[in-house]
Amino acid sequence: MSTVEYSAPSVAPRPLTDLDSEPLPRPTPRRRTPIGAEPEPDWRDSAACIGIDLNLFFPISTIGAIAQAQIDEAKSVCAECPVRRDCLAWALAVGPEFGIFGGCTDDERRRLRQRLNVEVN
Ligand code: SF4
Repeated sequence: MSTVEYSAPSVAPRPLTDLDSEPLPRPTPRRRTPIGAEPEPDWRDSAACIGIDLNLFFPISTIGAIAQAQIDEAKSVCAECPVRRDCLAWALAVGPEFGIFGGCTDDERRRLRQRLNVEVN
């Protein structure tokens, strides 16, 4: 079994300042593609986390320096992601309990959901 080592990210996580200036896009579920049809473009196809070990986005704790380094590294990937706002809108609407989506931890999304008055579908 291999282990993943987390180090300080090269890009500092950015605060979500754009949430106050413009509304998040409407969350979109992934559409099913009929057999034989060409798949429609989907924001998930442009995710910066494609090809990255997804364990990075699911820290087992939020306490301690190692956990914080992992969270910061995941957030640094999200900070450079071209579809971060779509991902965050989806995560706020769908409500995955764990993991980092759209540059936010689950606790941050819970607070954000209250602040933006978003209900989980
Ligand atoms: S915002 Fe983060 S979790 Fe969401 S698609 Fe982009 S890189 Fe992946």
